[in-house]
Amino acid sequence: MPAAAATKIVWDAHSCLPLLSGIDMSVLRRHRAAGFDYVSINVGMDMNPIDQVLKTIAWFRHWLGQHQGEFQLIDTIADVKAAKAAGKLAVAFDLEGPKMLLEDAAMVAFYGDLGVKQMHLVYNRNNTVGGGCHDDDKGLTAYGRGVVRAINQAGIIMDCSHNGERTSLDIMEASEKPVVFSHANARALVDHQRNISDRQIDACAATGGVIGINGIRLFLEAKEDFAEPMARHVDYMVQRVGPDHVGLGIDISFNLGVDDHPPTADRGYWWPLSGRYSSTGTSNAGPEVLPGIVAHLRNKGYDQASLDKICGGNFARVAKETWR
Ligand SMILES: [Zn+2]
Repeated sequence: MPAAAATKIVWDAHSCLPLLSGIDMSVLRRHRAAGFDYVSINVGMDMNPIDQVLKTIAWFRHWLGQHQGEFQLIDTIADVKAAKAAGKLAVAFDLEGPKMLLEDAAMVAFYGDLGVKQMHLVYNRNNTVGGGCHDDDKGLTAYGRGVVRAINQAGIIMDCSHNGERTSLDIMEASEKPVVFSHANARALVDHQRNISDRQIDACAATGGVIGINGIRLFLEAKEDFAEPMARHVDYMVQRVGPDHVGLGIDISFNLGVDDHPPTADRGYWWPLSGRYSSTGTSNAGPEVLPGIVAHLRNKGYDQASLDKICGGNFARVAKETWR
């Protein structure tokens, strides 16, 4: 293997396990088997009570600690490379929303110490930080600006998935570090509120950030196959902002046959009718989609250097510039 190939990192910027203590996380082996070196897994959204978020983090840390032969909870890019060299899957956590901060920006660094390496600030619906993609977005609040600062200072990747357009543009202007959309597709191809506009794509690239294309059927209008529409969204963004600003955030929700939805959280509020959510619509690609995406991009004429960036190099660059 050439030296350059040995240092390539294949990166899934966002996927999900049930947010429950006691679950078996070994399904993450599918990422390793599919060729991924790193995966960021969600540990909490705005609808999850803080006790659920903390118990989930505690369990995920415990489970990964018990399975260090195959998985490594990482802190730095050097850790990701070391995990890859040892044949392990590198894992870190991300948060989707700020409610678990309890209105205190100082809580950001606390989650950072627990393994959270990426965070976005609004989950679909308006909150005290800003506006959601399924709400009347009034933009980033004064408190929100403090949280963005805290995320920059804590060395956590600033994410804008699920945010309203105006709030995401405010965040990208306020952030001193590159800003990513860890799992978002192109609105120009599929008109859904969870997909992002050309303006958001351009602004993200201008920060030096990366957009991770997700494998959610609804946001791709995918039929049987996920690889072709995912490659199409990759290509749309590359044509717009170049190959340095596009990646993958598969967003598989591993179904372990358990329901982790908090009984107090109204599904119709978090995933409103306007979003046309349904159980079939939110079915998703698995990590195994990777070679298919690469094959479609090769057919479109992508060279190896561009493929390496899209499959992980771009997100690894942002992590290197952001993580401490
Ligand atoms: Zn999400």
